[in-house]
Amino acid sequence: MSFELPKLPYQKSALEPYISEKTIEFHYGKHHQAYVNNLNNLTKGSPFENSDLEEIIKKADGGIFNNGAQVWNHTFYFGQFSKDGCKEPMDQLKEAIESSFGSFDKFVEEFSKAAATLFGSGWAWLVRNDDGSLAIVQTGNAGNPLRDGQKPLLTCDVWEHAYYLDKQNARPKYIEDFWKIVDWKVISKRFSEI
Ligand code: MN
Repeated sequence: MSFELPKLPYQKSALEPYISEKTIEFHYGKHHQAYVNNLNNLTKGSPFENSDLEEIIKKADGGIFNNGAQVWNHTFYFGQFSKDGCKEPMDQLKEAIESSFGSFDKFVEEFSKAAATLFGSGWAWLVRNDDGSLAIVQTGNAGNPLRDGQKPLLTCDVWEHAYYLDKQNARPKYIEDFWKIVDWKVISKRFSEI
């Protein structure tokens, strides 16, 4: 199987001023592309040559896991933004968030804290557990909750490459702007399709 960089669902400048065109050029055009290229090189002739990304995330280790998970994580991340999107969760996801976290505001506060306090590089996630409950989890480096049987709904990339060009070291400012572009229509759709 050969992996490809998925097309962005918007123009590179579409998330300005919250995420700049320059950040998208590097984060999507260079970093995401590099994970795709690395994965293609590493899987060639390996036991994962014909695997899809989910199988790689669940079963691979080392470089194949790291690059495969980063391809999946970035596609999931870039696919959830729109400046003109829905600003709050809809339908059953709205009910699930209120029942798991008390309120949408409380969820935003807890997720932001998880993203801000993750030490080093990694990801903050909203996931659905097997029993249907929702949870906020942190994963280091390329980590992905699918590995632990949880279903990802929303993610925030807190590797410095996600915000350094725009915000330098100000991760909290990046997280504050993150909420202005999450399209809850996409997240609600993900929840309804699990
Ligand atoms: Mn990234």
